[in-house]
Amino acid sequence: MQFMTQLLDAFFPDICVLCESTVATSRVHRTCPHCWAALPRISHACRHCALPIPQGELCGGCLTQPLFSGNCVAALLHRGCARTLVHRLKYNHGLREGSTLATALQQAVRLNYSTQPLAKALVPVPLSYWRQVQRGYNQATWLAHLLGKSMRLPVITSAVRRRGGIPQKAKSRNSRLQLPPATFHIPAPIKVDHVAIVDDVLTTGATVKALTQQLHNAGVKRVDVWCATRTPRPT
Ligand SMILES: [Zn+2]
Ligand SMILES: [Zn+2]
Repeated sequence: MQFMTQLLDAFFPDICVLCESTVATSRVHRTCPHCWAALPRISHACRHCALPIPQGELCGGCLTQPLFSGNCVAALLHRGCARTLVHRLKYNHGLREGSTLATALQQAVRLNYSTQPLAKALVPVPLSYWRQVQRGYNQATWLAHLLGKSMRLPVITSAVRRRGGIPQKAKSRNSRLQLPPATFHIPAPIKVDHVAIVDDVLTTGATVKALTQQLHNAGVKRVDVWCATRTPRPT
């Protein structure tokens, strides 16, 4: 197997998804060592919203009103090259960029769950039917499948549906902070007690919050949140 990998690397050297330099040995994260090291990783963050904090477990906001009740993990700050990766994953069929984000997220999850039980299944944030038809794929599902494969976790996709509506991006800041739980429809109980919602970017948290509520209603006891990148909470 190792011989085959070396042979393939010799004939088909990889190209870094960020700087486009030739990478002698292809890596699962699809970047050169320099770009991989330069990703804007979140080193220490609030347990319930993944915002970077200098020390402690919770940010000021989550001390009084936690964004999520479960564990929230984000790998990268949503800026610079991390933002570029998400953009290409979302709008340019960037499966290779998805590998970079999924690998960074997997590392962050492993670090975060060293002393606590890991989620037993992954739930990607679904797109509405028409959004999925328009885009042709769901970037959160791509991420979840990459993560699920490397972490040996099942991915739940068909159990959760999303009703159509105005995309979060097109709404005003105030209306983006609220999303009715009925946006998501889970017709049958989910028989897994601990899941992690997977998404590409966490912004206000409204989408994930609505989905979390519906997953609890469907019988899931603990819902964690795993996102590739994190934007600052709007003020
Ligand atoms: Zn590079
Ligand atoms: Zn927080």
